[in-house]
Amino acid sequence: MRLFLIMMALVFFGCGKEKSVSDARNLNPYETTKNYFTSSAKLVVEVAYESGQEPYADGTTLTIAGETVALWEVLERNLTALFVGRSVIPTITVPKQLAAMKELPVQGKASWTAEDILKLGEQHRTGRSSTSETYFFVVFLGGVFNDGSADRPTTVGVSLGGTTVVAIFKDVVRQTGMGAAGFIPRYVEQATLVHEIGHALGLVDNGLPMKVAHKDADGHGAHCNNPDCVMYWLNEGRTDLIQFAIRMNVLGNVVMYDQKCLDDARNF
Ligand SMILES: [Zn+2]
Ligand SMILES: [Zn+2]
Repeated sequence: MRLFLIMMALVFFGCGKEKSVSDARNLNPYETTKNYFTSSAKLVVEVAYESGQEPYADGTTLTIAGETVALWEVLERNLTALFVGRSVIPTITVPKQLAAMKELPVQGKASWTAEDILKLGEQHRTGRSSTSETYFFVVFLGGVFNDGSADRPTTVGVSLGGTTVVAIFKDVVRQTGMGAAGFIPRYVEQATLVHEIGHALGLVDNGLPMKVAHKDADGHGAHCNNPDCVMYWLNEGRTDLIQFAIRMNVLGNVVMYDQKCLDDARNF
């Protein structure tokens, strides 16, 4: 369906802060928390990557607190956990192998604004959300995020507010550890996906009302106040994500949302 073009304030998340920029794009009226949680029978994560910036995928696993899971199952398990006990439970589809993800040509950009990312999404995504289906578009990019005022070289991922578009900056993921075989970069990549899609779905107090107050009280945006929850504000920047990965490797759970974040989704 062709949607109308509108000027609006776009809120995005990155580096622990919310920012607004002016943005012209096609608004999809079905991209709302209410739609995701009350009428959508299907939730599909579409993944694309700039050539050379592909996510960790095929044949790789993560062991979290003694449990070994295939990499993209981490995201799938976390999304599934949000819908436990709800009256409408969508079928969740997350690609597991690179062959099920879309390779895009090298973009050669040193930095990306929100507008650049949305434009790329418009060009390459195929699924469109409706009342009964939700499509997220995740794209892995080279270069760094630019929040409209400056480059943000430690931001691992961003969720473009009010849309289903998420970008992961692969160069920054790689900087969290030595080599693709390491636990930390793999964990950081999945945790960032879980965090950013969490924002897009409505966490924290970003469409999903809180069952009990647990939003960051220090002005860090739509984040959880629990440092051991994937929605904590610092858990989308490079340095703190490394620390989070190290702690959660031993003490964590495959499901990275804490109980308060899960309760918001389950009680909506
Ligand atoms: Zn965030
Ligand atoms: Zn939380």
